Amino acid sequence: YADSAMYLAKRSGRNNFRFYSKDLTASAEERMRLESELRRAIERGELELHYQPKVLLENGAMVGSEALLRWRHPEMGMIPPARFIPVAEDTGLIVELGRWVLREACQTATELNADSQSTHKVAINLSVKQFQSAGLVKSIAEILDETGCRAEWVEIEITESLLLDQKNETLQALCELRSMGFSIAIDDFGTGYSALNYLARFPIDTLKIDRSFINSTDRRNEELVKAILSIARCLGQSVVAEGVETAEQAAFLAANGCGSAQGFLYSKAVPKADIIALWLRSAASGAKPGEILSCG
Ligand code: C2E
Ligand code: MG
Ligand code: MG
Ligand code: MG
Repeated sequence: YADSAMYLAKRSGRNNFRFYSKDLTASAEERMRLESELRRAIERGELELHYQPKVLLENGAMVGSEALLRWRHPEMGMIPPARFIPVAEDTGLIVELGRWVLREACQTATELNADSQSTHKVAINLSVKQFQSAGLVKSIAEILDETGCRAEWVEIEITESLLLDQKNETLQALCELRSMGFSIAIDDFGTGYSALNYLARFPIDTLKIDRSFINSTDRRNEELVKAILSIARCLGQSVVAEGVETAEQAAFLAANGCGSAQGFLYSKAVPKADIIALWLRSAASGAKPGEILSCG
């Protein structure tokens, strides 16, 4: 993030570079700057949605992808979501941003599933703030209409923090989306504060094991992964492992009954044109995406 930190330091008229390299949490001043630039980013077309393939662990076949937001700032370069999503959430801009993401991802899902024999499911991250805003379900229904996308082609990723939201509307929105045909996944599972009893009370289809459990040298994390797989099995939920980087990690997950995975072992998130090309090639050749991706 050195470039963007430097840029912000210069823009804010201070030469306080060390502050930024030490602490990446933006000050109020920088957040305001990011906010106004983020607002313009939508209009200026600086946002891109990339897609990370999701594969079945048993045979490496691609079954879907996750939509991940990218901000290509003209001077600061690529700004990672970890830096601007929190600003967007604090300012409420995430609602507009999230709507753009939903429309874009649904449009892509429509194109991916246009002539496809098997379903390509696109996973979309939704923030708590989007659920707290009025009219989420209605606006998603409109987006399905506009893009010709079917709910069955989309998985909605929420975080455990949403399940802590005691408001009735949140649960209601979640249930409505589920009955429309969307599947619901808990992202970064195991890193939040939610109690396990929420798992049975909410309509959850999928647990995504956080990559901190997968990419760990601590053997106890392997036991935790097995325990999460066992919980999911009992509750009839599917499991996606995040952040799979080595063949050893994939083998361990497959041996313990984990259904699917994402990670740099297979591919990073790629632009829309690339995910469509990869999907078409994997459907045509029956080849494993790992093979396709590594030659592609
Ligand atoms: P996430 O939803 O948990 O997404 C997974 C993150 O892990 C992505 O980072 C992805 O690029 C990264 N990743 C995937 N495989 C590997 C791997 O093998 N190793 C490592 N080290 N990392 C891997 P990214 O794209 O920077 O996104 C970060 C977070 O920003 C996301 O975490 C999500 O919480 C948030 N985000 C991204 N796009 C959106 C969006 O459209 N809406 C909302 N509300 N949040 C988003
Ligand atoms: Mg996610
Ligand atoms: Mg995640
Ligand atoms: Mg994560």
